[in-house]
Amino acid sequence: MTTRSETRTALDHLLTEIEHRNPAQPEFHQAAHEVLETLAPVLAARPEYAEPGLVERLVEPERQVLFRVPWQDDQGRVRVNRGFRVEFNSALGPYKGGLRFHPSVNLGVIKFLGFEQIFKNALTGLGIGGGKGGSDFDPHGRSDAEVMRFCQSFMTELYRHIGEHTDVPAGDIGVGGREIGYLFGQYRRITNRWEAGVLTGKGAGWGGSLIRPEATGYGNVLFAAAMLRERGEDLEGQTAVVSGSGNVAIYTIEKLTALGANAVTCSDSSGYVVDEKGIDLDLLKQIKEVERGRVDSYAERRGASARFVPGGRVWEVPADLALPSATQNELDENDATALIRNGVKAVSEGANMPTTPEAVHLLQQAGVAFGPGKAANAGGVAVSALEMAQNHARTSWTSARVEEELAEIMTSIHTTCHETAERYDAPGDYVTGANIAGFERVADAMLAQGVI
Ligand code: NDP
Repeated sequence: MTTRSETRTALDHLLTEIEHRNPAQPEFHQAAHEVLETLAPVLAARPEYAEPGLVERLVEPERQVLFRVPWQDDQGRVRVNRGFRVEFNSALGPYKGGLRFHPSVNLGVIKFLGFEQIFKNALTGLGIGGGKGGSDFDPHGRSDAEVMRFCQSFMTELYRHIGEHTDVPAGDIGVGGREIGYLFGQYRRITNRWEAGVLTGKGAGWGGSLIRPEATGYGNVLFAAAMLRERGEDLEGQTAVVSGSGNVAIYTIEKLTALGANAVTCSDSSGYVVDEKGIDLDLLKQIKEVERGRVDSYAERRGASARFVPGGRVWEVPADLALPSATQNELDENDATALIRNGVKAVSEGANMPTTPEAVHLLQQAGVAFGPGKAANAGGVAVSALEMAQNHARTSWTSARVEEELAEIMTSIHTTCHETAERYDAPGDYVTGANIAGFERVADAMLAQGVI
């Protein structure tokens, strides 16, 4: 029987090996540490998981595709970007995970996201494996025509690697409904197939699911509410700080408001807005979804209740709840200290890995309920899987039905994480609960399917 400390030593060796074999990929190292550091109890308790090669296979993507994406800007100049698709693990179903278009994208970022996605997708209980992709293309300031030409070039290579039974991309940072439309159009043109299930996040009129745009934000708020319920509280009357002003942030604010909380901030890479009356969503949607503008213009147009803080971080605003919804490592130990000082009760991650490991530690030490992204933001991919189910059946469900399924899935994820943490002597530790529960499901499937 292997002890926890022997298992821990073996995992430490593996982490060193991961750093050695994947140089200059700090985000991937961070994600691997975050998961592997919590697995010792389950590997010690269940010897079949400690089989040599299981965790080693899990941290190595099944396939990684890198490709050139040439396109012409509006001046006719040729631009060259790099495209990525990391197909990480398909033990539970076709690879599933979004595409990110942002200048910070590189292989290490895509691998961190793909690795997280394996466990997140497992937690949903649905039949989807883990993958992620994207490009270092920056859509900011690009015309619609440029974005279309870029998407068409990107898909001209990607199409040969994806398919409804193989790999099903969706949106992420910089990839919303507009980009999914251009990508789907090019896939259809090249393959001459109406294969709706090849991409999710499609428009509702042509194969998309109702509630998919809302799902990640709504799901995160439901997860936060479930964590509060464990402590005998609810969302009513709570003040919330939300970062970001994209898809996840907007629908987080919408659900918070609907459930009686007051969401007082939003942000983008230029700074943040604080609005003591609560964020006016119609105005924010107009600026971000229609005009593709910046958050400072929200403050200009909103009047006296709102102000713009250039370069600032929302975490300095006192609040009961914090829902980071922009990007990785956007909430560090200084931010955590400020949140704790101001009495925050729960932090629930809408973004992927937005909280640094040091900040997570501080929050947990201070008794703050902490919902990790792979559990808290899994509503988006869960509804993507429901979109695939609707596509397969050539039907579409009502908003009410999708929302009901989303709520059930989020409740089940919360319960699974909570119970798994208790089973492994870490009550209230959703990080451990999420990692172990996601791992168990994937590991069982990998063991059953042999060494592949
Ligand atoms: P969007 O592109 O719609 O919005 C991203 C927001 O975050 C924008 O306000 C953007 O500001 C801000 N942001 C992005 N990068 C940075 C940065 N480096 N510094 C400061 N601000 C930044 O993306 P989403 O809302 O879809 O995604 C947000 C997060 O949620 C990501 O971590 C994503 O992986 C995660 N997520 C998304 C899901 C989905 O369904 N869309 C599902 C699960 C997780 P600016 O415009 O100035 O760059």
